[in-house]
Amino acid sequence: MRRSITVFPELTDTEVSAIMETRKQYARAFNMSAECLINNSSTSKRFLHKVQYERIKEECPTLPTGLIQCARDVAVEAVKTWNAKRTKLKQKKPKKAERMKRPSMKEKCTMRYDVRTITLRGSQLTFSTCGRRIKTIISIPWFFTERYSPSEGWKLKGANIGIDRKGRVFVNLIYECPDSINENRGGKIVGLDRGIYNIVTTSDGVHYGAKDARRVKRKYNHVRSQLQEKGTRSAKRRLKALSGCEKRFVHDQNHCISRKLADTDDVSVYVLEDLSSMNMLRLKGKSSRTMRKWISNWSYSDLEFKLTYKCQMNGIRVETVDARYTSQKCSVCRTIDKASRKGNRYTCRHCGSRMHADTNAAINIRDNYITRVMQSGQAAVNQPHGWSATGRPETEPVGQTLTSKPSVLY
Ligand SMILES: [Zn+2]
Repeated sequence: MRRSITVFPELTDTEVSAIMETRKQYARAFNMSAECLINNSSTSKRFLHKVQYERIKEECPTLPTGLIQCARDVAVEAVKTWNAKRTKLKQKKPKKAERMKRPSMKEKCTMRYDVRTITLRGSQLTFSTCGRRIKTIISIPWFFTERYSPSEGWKLKGANIGIDRKGRVFVNLIYECPDSINENRGGKIVGLDRGIYNIVTTSDGVHYGAKDARRVKRKYNHVRSQLQEKGTRSAKRRLKALSGCEKRFVHDQNHCISRKLADTDDVSVYVLEDLSSMNMLRLKGKSSRTMRKWISNWSYSDLEFKLTYKCQMNGIRVETVDARYTSQKCSVCRTIDKASRKGNRYTCRHCGSRMHADTNAAINIRDNYITRVMQSGQAAVNQPHGWSATGRPETEPVGQTLTSKPSVLY
């Protein structure tokens, strides 16, 4: 598990220009490494070092060796991701895959440092640049030092150093801690349905409403359309400020909801629908224009991201499942019938059960996950001896749910 803290050290002008020069050479080292890897179709650090180290040293004479190694490591990772993306794309669109842009770094990049090139002793931070090693005093807020204390296994893993749009030098300290200290805890499996009218609905029937958010969004949409019509320079300025306001509001909302969910006791797994697949597109195609507008600027993935990292800290897992038919299926008798859903009510036309449509979907999402785990669990049982059937943590919480809620499963 990794966490980061951003600090803004106070530096002199010469130090800032040294960082700028370092950044330039770092980008060059990265580009040379990436180019070499792709041309030789390799992703080996050793190979790269053998072939390219001397040349990089010539091109970037003052860049410290430690930073060349950092740039090389980043390049290897970038090329690996690029390769994976390309192979995936090749199957579907071979022409597009040929034209795919190679990984490259601009001069205004953010540099990655590792423990060899950055050190933090107390509040004294030192890191290497093209010139001298820069020594500076930083202040980290106490709640961070308390939370990421070495006694709990947290270690400084490295840092990202760059210059932001305002011209400030920022240091993004990265702390790492082995996952094992937050072992899986016992508890139930809860399905979460994300929607427009309720941001999140749990399978226990708790709604986290979007009434406020919708009101604020509507207001912003209205003001925005008026300003866009005006089109003057001050209107454009106002629009920019407005987009910031709206973003902060949504972020705050997502932070509050994910915090509440992550702090809920007796939960071991949260199950979300996998919205990255076709589901969203299908929704977009069939719904009205206003609906599409709502969907397009709703921040599903942001909520998922915030929930995931908060849950990680509390030992809760976040899983995703196939989302197909979760809103049309009856969670009691499992019949799929589109006509059963009317607005936010779900009244099954076959077994007559009634509930909130979002709760119904959340239960379906949870059950989809349970079914999946049971199937994979059975597959593991059927494996020959010595297969890692015992090493699966999933099997335990499912057993608990099975005994406590048999009616849902059968
Ligand atoms: Zn039914």
